[in-house]
Amino acid sequence: MMLPQHYFQQAAFLQSATTKKTLPVERGREVAFAGRSNAGKSSVINRVCSQKSLARTSKTPGRTQLINFFQLPDEHSLVDLPGYGYAKVPEAAKLEWQKFIEAYLIQRKTLQGLILVMDIRHPLTEHDQTLLHWVNSRQLKAHILLNKADKLTKGAAASTLLQVRKALSQYPHISVQTFSALNQQGLETCWQVLDQWLHDD
Ligand code: GDP
Repeated sequence: MMLPQHYFQQAAFLQSATTKKTLPVERGREVAFAGRSNAGKSSVINRVCSQKSLARTSKTPGRTQLINFFQLPDEHSLVDLPGYGYAKVPEAAKLEWQKFIEAYLIQRKTLQGLILVMDIRHPLTEHDQTLLHWVNSRQLKAHILLNKADKLTKGAAASTLLQVRKALSQYPHISVQTFSALNQQGLETCWQVLDQWLHDD
């Protein structure tokens, strides 16, 4: 097995989808990334893949309602789900987003798990919990990245980690870690989780 850094570095844009019909054929395994707008999802994907602009950081948060697929070297893919929770998105567009994402999370056979990116200062928003609800409904794995841990002291970050773990303790298939896309804290742990989901039997 290639080192995680070298493996994920080879991620390359495959295609975008806006509707169920435009999703790529189900092939290999997929891990999807989701998160509230501005939690740092794009920065996390770029950090995981050691690339500057694979996922586009949001200049106009919430505007692009696209699912982006990134191909990995061995047929597997990483999937960038549209950010949510941006106040200025019209209600109708929010509902569209919900329907599309719910269908994707519930029906996609190749989907192994969800990486849920949260701002460590605002964990477990209502939308985050909706996503976890869908994930639980089909026993999909989820791994939470409490991102921007660099914004807190070590003590405060550790205390939030404990709180979130406690809140989710009844779900054995949901795990949590602290992370920073800025200073790479937690990157090795995140690579391990992705590697397991994509490559373990
Ligand atoms: P997205 O909307 O979830 O894709 O978020 P972006 O990746 O565009 O990041 C939103 C803002 O948060 C940008 O200004 C990033 O530079 C910043 N950001 C992302 N990750 C981190 C982090 O780990 N630490 C800090 N301090 N800032 C971050």
